Amino acid sequence: MKEFIYNRQPSRVVFGTGALKHLEREIELLGARRALVLSTPEQQHQAQMVADRLGSRAGGIFPRAVMHVPIETAREAREEARRLGADCAIAIGGGSTTGLGKAIAMESGLPILVIPTTYAGSEMTPIYGITEAGLKKTGKDPRVLPRTVIYDPELTLGLPIGLSITSGMNAIAHAAEGLYAQDSNPVMDLMAEEGIRALAKALPAIRVRGDNVDARGEALYGAWLCGSVLGNVGMALHHKLCHTLGGTFNLPHAEVHTVVLPQAIHFNARAVPDAMARMERALGLMGRSSAAAGLFDLARDNGAPVALRNIGMKGADLDRAADIVVSSPYWNPREINAQARGAVRQLLQDAFEGVRPQ
Ligand code: NAD
Repeated sequence: MKEFIYNRQPSRVVFGTGALKHLEREIELLGARRALVLSTPEQQHQAQMVADRLGSRAGGIFPRAVMHVPIETAREAREEARRLGADCAIAIGGGSTTGLGKAIAMESGLPILVIPTTYAGSEMTPIYGITEAGLKKTGKDPRVLPRTVIYDPELTLGLPIGLSITSGMNAIAHAAEGLYAQDSNPVMDLMAEEGIRALAKALPAIRVRGDNVDARGEALYGAWLCGSVLGNVGMALHHKLCHTLGGTFNLPHAEVHTVVLPQAIHFNARAVPDAMARMERALGLMGRSSAAAGLFDLARDNGAPVALRNIGMKGADLDRAADIVVSSPYWNPREINAQARGAVRQLLQDAFEGVRPQ
Protein backbone atom coordinates (compact mmCIF):
# COMPACT_ATOMS: atom_id res chain seq x y z
CA MET A 1 0.00 0.00 0.00
CA LYS A 2 1.30 3.47 -0.84
CA GLU A 3 2.17 5.96 1.90
CA PHE A 4 -0.47 8.46 2.91
CA ILE A 5 -1.38 11.24 5.33
CA TYR A 6 -4.95 11.49 6.57
CA ASN A 7 -6.29 14.59 8.33
CA ARG A 8 -9.79 14.50 9.72
CA GLN A 9 -11.70 17.78 9.28
CA PRO A 10 -13.44 18.88 12.45
CA SER A 11 -17.00 19.45 11.22
CA ARG A 12 -20.20 17.95 12.53
CA VAL A 13 -22.72 16.48 10.07
CA VAL A 14 -26.39 15.97 10.88
CA PHE A 15 -28.09 14.04 8.09
CA GLY A 16 -31.69 12.93 7.56
CA THR A 17 -35.07 13.62 6.05
CA GLY A 18 -36.55 16.35 8.24
CA ALA A 19 -33.14 16.97 9.90
CA LEU A 20 -33.89 20.71 10.00
CA LYS A 21 -35.85 19.97 13.17
CA HIS A 22 -32.46 19.68 14.92
CA LEU A 23 -31.51 23.27 14.08
CA GLU A 24 -32.23 24.68 17.55
CA ARG A 25 -30.18 21.91 19.20
CA GLU A 26 -27.29 22.50 16.83
CA ILE A 27 -27.31 26.26 17.39
CA GLU A 28 -27.34 25.60 21.13
CA LEU A 29 -24.33 23.27 20.77
CA LEU A 30 -22.45 26.04 18.98
CA GLY A 31 -23.25 28.29 21.93
CA ALA A 32 -24.82 30.87 19.62
CA ARG A 33 -27.44 33.38 20.79
CA ARG A 34 -27.78 35.65 17.75
CA ALA A 35 -27.50 34.11 14.29
CA LEU A 36 -27.39 35.97 10.98
CA VAL A 37 -29.19 33.89 8.32
CA LEU A 38 -27.83 34.11 4.74
CA SER A 39 -29.46 33.19 1.43
CA THR A 40 -29.76 34.30 -2.18
CA PRO A 41 -32.73 36.55 -3.07
CA GLU A 42 -34.40 33.49 -4.67
CA GLN A 43 -34.21 31.54 -1.40
CA GLN A 44 -35.22 34.36 0.93
CA HIS A 45 -38.35 32.43 1.95
CA GLN A 46 -36.14 29.58 3.18
CA ALA A 47 -33.95 32.02 5.14
CA GLN A 48 -37.09 33.51 6.67
CA MET A 49 -38.35 30.04 7.59
CA VAL A 50 -35.04 29.33 9.37
CA ALA A 51 -35.18 32.68 11.20
CA ASP A 52 -38.79 32.02 12.25
CA ARG A 53 -37.80 28.64 13.68
CA LEU A 54 -35.03 30.25 15.73
CA GLY A 55 -37.16 33.08 17.11
CA SER A 56 -35.08 35.30 19.38
CA ARG A 57 -31.89 33.41 18.49
CA ALA A 58 -32.09 34.84 14.97
CA GLY A 59 -30.61 38.35 14.78
CA GLY A 60 -31.73 38.93 11.19
CA ILE A 61 -31.48 37.75 7.61
CA PHE A 62 -29.21 38.84 4.77
CA PRO A 63 -30.83 37.51 1.57
CA ARG A 64 -28.40 38.99 -0.94
CA ALA A 65 -25.86 36.23 -1.67
CA VAL A 66 -24.86 36.06 -5.36
CA MET A 67 -22.48 33.96 -7.48
CA HIS A 68 -18.70 34.26 -6.91
CA VAL A 69 -18.91 36.26 -3.63
CA PRO A 70 -18.18 39.84 -4.81
CA ILE A 71 -16.10 41.68 -2.19
CA GLU A 72 -18.79 44.40 -1.96
CA THR A 73 -21.42 41.83 -0.94
CA ALA A 74 -19.01 40.24 1.53
CA ARG A 75 -18.34 43.67 3.11
CA GLU A 76 -22.08 44.41 3.39
CA ALA A 77 -22.76 41.03 5.01
CA ARG A 78 -19.82 41.43 7.43
CA GLU A 79 -21.12 44.89 8.37
CA GLU A 80 -24.61 43.50 8.93
CA ALA A 81 -23.18 40.75 11.16
CA ARG A 82 -21.33 43.40 13.22
CA ARG A 83 -24.36 45.69 13.42
CA LEU A 84 -26.54 42.87 14.71
CA GLY A 85 -23.90 41.59 17.11
CA ALA A 86 -24.18 38.17 15.43
CA ASP A 87 -22.23 35.31 17.01
CA CYS A 88 -22.95 32.77 14.25
CA ALA A 89 -23.82 32.72 10.53
CA ILE A 90 -26.30 30.28 9.06
CA ALA A 91 -26.11 29.73 5.29
CA ILE A 92 -29.08 28.07 3.61
CA GLY A 93 -28.51 27.45 -0.10
CA GLY A 94 -25.82 26.37 -2.54
CA GLY A 95 -22.14 27.16 -2.95
CA SER A 96 -22.76 30.90 -3.46
CA THR A 97 -24.47 31.32 -0.09
CA THR A 98 -22.00 29.08 1.71
CA GLY A 99 -19.25 31.16 0.09
CA LEU A 100 -20.70 34.32 1.63
CA GLY A 101 -20.76 32.63 5.04
CA LYS A 102 -17.10 31.74 4.57
CA ALA A 103 -16.27 35.36 3.71
CA ILE A 104 -17.80 36.42 7.04
CA ALA A 105 -16.00 33.68 8.97
CA MET A 106 -12.66 34.50 7.40
CA GLU A 107 -12.73 38.02 8.81
CA SER A 108 -14.58 37.53 12.07
CA GLY A 109 -13.93 33.90 13.02
CA LEU A 110 -17.70 33.44 13.57
CA PRO A 111 -18.81 29.80 13.41
CA ILE A 112 -20.88 28.89 10.34
CA LEU A 113 -23.74 26.42 10.22
CA VAL A 114 -24.64 25.40 6.66
CA ILE A 115 -27.87 23.91 5.36
CA PRO A 116 -26.95 22.89 1.77
CA THR A 117 -29.67 22.83 -0.89
CA THR A 118 -27.48 21.90 -3.90
CA TYR A 119 -24.81 19.23 -4.40
CA ALA A 120 -21.82 21.59 -4.89
CA GLY A 121 -20.06 20.45 -1.70
CA SER A 122 -18.60 23.77 -0.48
CA GLU A 123 -19.96 23.09 3.04
CA MET A 124 -17.36 20.34 3.55
CA THR A 125 -14.30 22.36 2.53
CA PRO A 126 -11.97 24.98 4.03
CA ILE A 127 -11.74 26.57 0.55
CA TYR A 128 -12.99 30.14 0.06
CA GLY A 129 -13.36 32.37 -2.98
CA ILE A 130 -13.85 36.14 -3.19
CA THR A 131 -14.13 38.25 -6.34
CA GLU A 132 -12.49 41.67 -6.37
CA ALA A 133 -12.25 43.91 -9.45
CA GLY A 134 -13.36 41.01 -11.67
CA LEU A 135 -10.73 38.59 -10.34
CA LYS A 136 -11.72 35.61 -8.19
CA LYS A 137 -9.17 34.83 -5.50
CA THR A 138 -9.38 31.44 -3.85
CA GLY A 139 -7.51 30.03 -0.91
CA LYS A 140 -7.70 27.68 2.05
CA ASP A 141 -8.26 28.71 5.65
CA PRO A 142 -9.36 26.36 8.45
CA ARG A 143 -11.49 29.19 9.93
CA VAL A 144 -13.92 29.03 7.02
CA LEU A 145 -14.70 25.33 7.36
CA PRO A 146 -18.34 25.20 8.48
CA ARG A 147 -18.63 23.90 12.04
CA THR A 148 -21.99 22.19 11.55
CA VAL A 149 -23.78 20.98 8.42
CA ILE A 150 -27.43 19.96 8.40
CA TYR A 151 -28.31 17.89 5.34
CA ASP A 152 -32.08 17.65 4.89
CA PRO A 153 -33.25 16.20 1.53
CA GLU A 154 -36.68 17.83 2.00
CA LEU A 155 -35.06 21.22 1.45
CA THR A 156 -33.76 20.12 -1.96
CA LEU A 157 -37.08 19.05 -3.47
CA GLY A 158 -37.45 22.43 -5.17
CA LEU A 159 -34.02 22.41 -6.82
CA PRO A 160 -34.90 22.57 -10.54
CA ILE A 161 -34.26 19.27 -12.35
CA GLY A 162 -31.68 20.79 -14.73
CA LEU A 163 -29.63 22.26 -11.89
CA SER A 164 -30.02 19.03 -9.90
CA ILE A 165 -28.34 17.03 -12.67
CA THR A 166 -25.52 19.52 -13.32
CA SER A 167 -24.95 20.09 -9.61
CA GLY A 168 -24.77 16.30 -9.14
CA MET A 169 -22.19 16.09 -11.94
CA ASN A 170 -20.26 18.91 -10.20
CA ALA A 171 -20.16 16.73 -7.07
CA ILE A 172 -19.04 13.67 -9.04
CA ALA A 173 -16.18 15.76 -10.47
CA HIS A 174 -14.74 16.28 -6.97
CA ALA A 175 -14.74 12.55 -6.30
CA ALA A 176 -13.46 11.62 -9.77
CA GLU A 177 -10.40 13.86 -9.40
CA GLY A 178 -10.03 12.78 -5.77
CA LEU A 179 -9.53 9.20 -6.96
CA TYR A 180 -6.29 10.20 -8.68
CA ALA A 181 -5.20 13.02 -6.36
CA GLN A 182 -1.50 13.23 -5.58
CA ASP A 183 -2.30 13.37 -1.84
CA SER A 184 -5.16 10.84 -1.82
CA ASN A 185 -5.63 8.32 0.96
CA PRO A 186 -7.64 5.09 1.32
CA VAL A 187 -10.46 6.74 3.30
CA MET A 188 -11.02 9.40 0.64
CA ASP A 189 -10.93 6.73 -2.08
CA LEU A 190 -13.74 4.87 -0.33
CA MET A 191 -15.75 8.06 0.06
CA ALA A 192 -15.14 9.05 -3.56
CA GLU A 193 -16.25 5.73 -4.97
CA GLU A 194 -19.34 5.58 -2.77
CA GLY A 195 -20.17 9.22 -3.56
CA ILE A 196 -20.06 8.60 -7.33
CA ARG A 197 -22.14 5.44 -6.92
CA ALA A 198 -24.83 7.24 -4.91
CA LEU A 199 -25.12 10.16 -7.35
CA ALA A 200 -25.05 7.96 -10.47
CA LYS A 201 -27.99 6.04 -8.99
CA ALA A 202 -29.89 9.10 -7.76
CA LEU A 203 -29.71 11.46 -10.75
CA PRO A 204 -31.78 9.37 -13.21
CA ALA A 205 -34.46 8.92 -10.52
CA ILE A 206 -34.52 12.69 -9.82
CA ARG A 207 -34.85 13.34 -13.56
CA VAL A 208 -38.02 11.25 -13.54
CA ARG A 209 -39.46 12.82 -10.39
CA GLY A 210 -37.88 15.81 -8.68
CA ASP A 211 -39.84 15.34 -5.47
CA ASN A 212 -38.63 11.75 -4.95
CA VAL A 213 -37.37 12.12 -1.36
CA ASP A 214 -35.41 8.85 -1.40
CA ALA A 215 -33.53 9.83 -4.55
CA ARG A 216 -32.95 13.32 -3.14
CA GLY A 217 -31.57 11.74 0.02
CA GLU A 218 -29.24 9.47 -1.96
CA ALA A 219 -28.00 12.45 -4.01
CA LEU A 220 -27.38 14.58 -0.93
CA TYR A 221 -25.54 11.69 0.73
CA GLY A 222 -23.37 11.43 -2.40
CA ALA A 223 -22.83 15.20 -2.35
CA TRP A 224 -21.63 15.03 1.25
CA LEU A 225 -19.11 12.30 0.38
CA CYS A 226 -17.89 14.06 -2.77
CA GLY A 227 -17.64 17.42 -0.97
CA SER A 228 -15.59 15.76 1.77
CA VAL A 229 -13.16 14.50 -0.86
CA LEU A 230 -12.85 18.02 -2.29
CA GLY A 231 -12.13 19.33 1.20
CA ASN A 232 -9.40 16.79 1.89
CA VAL A 233 -7.34 16.20 -1.23
CA GLY A 234 -6.02 18.28 -4.13
CA MET A 235 -7.81 18.64 -7.45
CA ALA A 236 -6.23 18.48 -10.92
CA LEU A 237 -6.77 19.36 -14.61
CA HIS A 238 -10.56 19.15 -14.57
CA HIS A 239 -10.89 21.74 -11.79
CA LYS A 240 -8.26 23.96 -13.42
CA LEU A 241 -10.22 23.91 -16.68
CA CYS A 242 -13.48 24.72 -14.88
CA HIS A 243 -11.97 27.55 -12.83
CA THR A 244 -10.57 29.03 -16.04
CA LEU A 245 -13.79 28.69 -18.03
CA GLY A 246 -15.97 29.86 -15.13
CA GLY A 247 -13.68 32.65 -13.93
CA THR A 248 -12.32 34.13 -17.17
CA PHE A 249 -15.22 33.39 -19.52
CA ASN A 250 -18.01 33.64 -16.95
CA LEU A 251 -19.68 30.32 -17.80
CA PRO A 252 -22.18 28.81 -15.32
CA HIS A 253 -20.43 26.79 -12.61
CA ALA A 254 -22.28 23.46 -12.48
CA GLU A 255 -22.83 23.28 -16.25
CA VAL A 256 -19.13 23.83 -16.99
CA HIS A 257 -18.24 20.96 -14.65
CA THR A 258 -20.80 18.75 -16.38
CA VAL A 259 -19.47 19.41 -19.87
CA VAL A 260 -15.75 19.26 -19.07
CA LEU A 261 -15.71 16.23 -16.76
CA PRO A 262 -15.94 13.43 -19.38
CA GLN A 263 -13.27 15.12 -21.51
CA ALA A 264 -10.86 15.67 -18.59
CA ILE A 265 -11.31 12.08 -17.42
CA HIS A 266 -10.67 10.83 -20.96
CA PHE A 267 -7.51 12.97 -21.09
CA ASN A 268 -6.17 11.42 -17.87
CA ALA A 269 -7.47 7.86 -18.32
CA ARG A 270 -4.27 6.15 -19.46
CA ALA A 271 -2.19 7.71 -16.68
CA VAL A 272 -4.42 6.39 -13.86
CA PRO A 273 -5.95 3.00 -14.72
CA ASP A 274 -6.77 2.12 -11.09
CA ALA A 275 -8.80 5.30 -10.61
CA MET A 276 -10.63 4.56 -13.88
CA ALA A 277 -11.48 1.05 -12.71
CA ARG A 278 -12.96 2.44 -9.49
CA MET A 279 -14.96 5.07 -11.38
CA GLU A 280 -16.29 2.47 -13.80
CA ARG A 281 -17.31 0.26 -10.89
CA ALA A 282 -19.01 3.21 -9.13
CA LEU A 283 -20.87 4.12 -12.32
CA GLY A 284 -22.01 0.50 -12.69
CA LEU A 285 -20.57 0.26 -16.20
CA MET A 286 -19.46 -3.39 -15.94
CA GLY A 287 -17.08 -3.16 -18.91
CA ARG A 288 -19.72 -1.71 -21.25
CA SER A 289 -17.91 1.61 -21.64
CA SER A 290 -15.07 3.67 -20.26
CA ALA A 291 -15.46 5.96 -17.22
CA ALA A 292 -15.27 9.00 -19.51
CA ALA A 293 -18.01 7.69 -21.81
CA GLY A 294 -20.10 6.64 -18.80
CA LEU A 295 -19.93 10.18 -17.38
CA PHE A 296 -20.83 11.67 -20.76
CA ASP A 297 -23.84 9.34 -21.02
CA LEU A 298 -24.95 10.09 -17.44
CA ALA A 299 -25.09 13.80 -18.28
CA ARG A 300 -26.58 13.53 -21.78
CA ASP A 301 -29.18 10.87 -20.90
CA ASN A 302 -30.44 13.04 -18.06
CA GLY A 303 -30.85 16.11 -20.22
CA ALA A 304 -27.73 18.02 -19.12
CA PRO A 305 -25.58 19.99 -21.58
CA VAL A 306 -22.51 18.20 -22.99
CA ALA A 307 -21.09 20.95 -25.25
CA LEU A 308 -19.45 24.23 -24.23
CA ARG A 309 -20.93 25.96 -27.27
CA ASN A 310 -24.37 25.37 -25.80
CA ILE A 311 -23.56 27.07 -22.49
CA GLY A 312 -22.16 30.35 -23.74
CA MET A 313 -18.55 29.59 -24.73
CA LYS A 314 -17.23 31.20 -27.92
CA GLY A 315 -15.04 29.14 -30.24
CA ALA A 316 -12.72 32.16 -30.63
CA ASP A 317 -11.84 31.97 -26.90
CA LEU A 318 -10.66 28.33 -26.88
CA ASP A 319 -7.04 29.23 -27.69
CA ARG A 320 -6.87 31.69 -24.80
CA ALA A 321 -8.41 29.15 -22.44
CA ALA A 322 -5.80 26.55 -23.44
CA ASP A 323 -3.00 29.09 -22.89
CA ILE A 324 -4.23 29.94 -19.38
CA VAL A 325 -4.57 26.27 -18.39
CA VAL A 326 -1.09 25.39 -19.65
CA SER A 327 0.69 28.49 -18.31
CA SER A 328 -0.36 28.01 -14.67
CA PRO A 329 -1.36 24.34 -14.36
CA TYR A 330 -2.48 22.43 -11.27
CA TRP A 331 -0.65 19.19 -10.58
CA ASN A 332 -2.13 16.50 -12.86
CA PRO A 333 -1.36 12.79 -13.30
CA ARG A 334 -0.63 13.40 -17.00
CA GLU A 335 1.80 16.28 -16.87
CA ILE A 336 0.57 19.63 -18.16
CA ASN A 337 3.41 21.60 -19.75
CA ALA A 338 4.10 23.48 -22.98
CA GLN A 339 4.25 20.17 -24.91
CA ALA A 340 0.76 19.29 -23.68
CA ARG A 341 -0.75 22.50 -25.08
CA GLY A 342 -1.96 20.80 -28.28
CA ALA A 343 -3.67 18.01 -26.35
CA VAL A 344 -5.33 20.48 -23.95
CA ARG A 345 -6.53 22.54 -26.92
CA GLN A 346 -7.99 19.36 -28.46
CA LEU A 347 -9.71 18.53 -25.16
CA LEU A 348 -11.31 21.99 -25.21
CA GLN A 349 -12.37 21.52 -28.84
CA ASP A 350 -14.04 18.21 -27.98
CA ALA A 351 -15.76 19.83 -25.00
CA PHE A 352 -16.84 22.72 -27.22
CA GLU A 353 -18.43 20.37 -29.73
CA GLY A 354 -19.72 17.81 -27.22
CA VAL A 355 -17.82 14.84 -28.66
CA ARG A 356 -18.56 11.60 -26.79
CA PRO A 357 -15.20 10.24 -25.54
CA GLN A 358 -14.43 6.56 -26.13
P1 NAD B 1 -25.55 28.53 -6.34
O1 NAD B 1 -25.31 28.51 -4.89
O2 NAD B 1 -24.98 29.68 -7.12
O3 NAD B 1 -27.11 28.42 -6.60
C1 NAD B 1 -27.64 28.56 -7.93
C2 NAD B 1 -29.10 29.03 -7.86
O4 NAD B 1 -29.91 27.95 -7.38
C3 NAD B 1 -29.30 30.18 -6.85
O5 NAD B 1 -30.24 31.06 -7.41
C4 NAD B 1 -29.89 29.48 -5.65
O6 NAD B 1 -30.66 30.32 -4.84
C5 NAD B 1 -30.72 28.40 -6.31
N1 NAD B 1 -30.99 27.25 -5.44
C6 NAD B 1 -30.13 26.58 -4.66
N2 NAD B 1 -30.75 25.57 -4.02
C7 NAD B 1 -32.04 25.61 -4.40
C8 NAD B 1 -33.18 24.81 -4.09
N3 NAD B 1 -33.09 23.75 -3.29
N4 NAD B 1 -34.35 25.15 -4.65
C9 NAD B 1 -34.44 26.19 -5.53
N5 NAD B 1 -33.40 26.96 -5.87
C10 NAD B 1 -32.21 26.67 -5.31
O7 NAD B 1 -25.00 27.20 -7.06
P2 NAD B 1 -23.97 26.08 -6.62
O8 NAD B 1 -23.69 25.31 -7.84
O9 NAD B 1 -24.43 25.38 -5.40
O10 NAD B 1 -22.67 26.90 -6.18
C11 NAD B 1 -21.80 27.45 -7.13
C12 NAD B 1 -20.75 28.33 -6.45
O11 NAD B 1 -20.17 27.64 -5.35
C13 NAD B 1 -19.61 28.72 -7.37
O12 NAD B 1 -19.29 30.08 -7.18
C14 NAD B 1 -18.46 27.83 -6.92
O13 NAD B 1 -17.20 28.41 -7.17
C15 NAD B 1 -18.75 27.68 -5.45
N6 NAD B 1 -18.21 26.42 -4.88
C16 NAD B 1 -17.26 26.53 -3.91
C17 NAD B 1 -16.73 25.38 -3.35
C18 NAD B 1 -15.72 25.50 -2.26
O14 NAD B 1 -15.24 24.49 -1.75
N7 NAD B 1 -15.35 26.70 -1.86
C19 NAD B 1 -17.17 24.11 -3.76
C20 NAD B 1 -18.14 24.04 -4.75
C21 NAD B 1 -18.67 25.21 -5.31
